[in-house]
Amino acid sequence: MWTCRNCNGRFAFDQVEAQIDEGGYFFICPGCDYRNKLVNTGADATGRPQFVQRDE
Ligand SMILES: [Zn+2]
Repeated sequence: MWTCRNCNGRFAFDQVEAQIDEGGYFFICPGCDYRNKLVNTGADATGRPQFVQRDE
């Protein structure tokens, strides 16, 4: 699960889509539109990138 740092909403990994821009990876909270930063930890066995939330 991912947790929104702003509203504490919790979302399954397939509910929100990781995005990237010049500032790095992030996802937008579906509940409050807060930008939550993500860190790409590399691809899994199927080649899909894996992400973790950065603790700030
Ligand atoms: Zn939120």
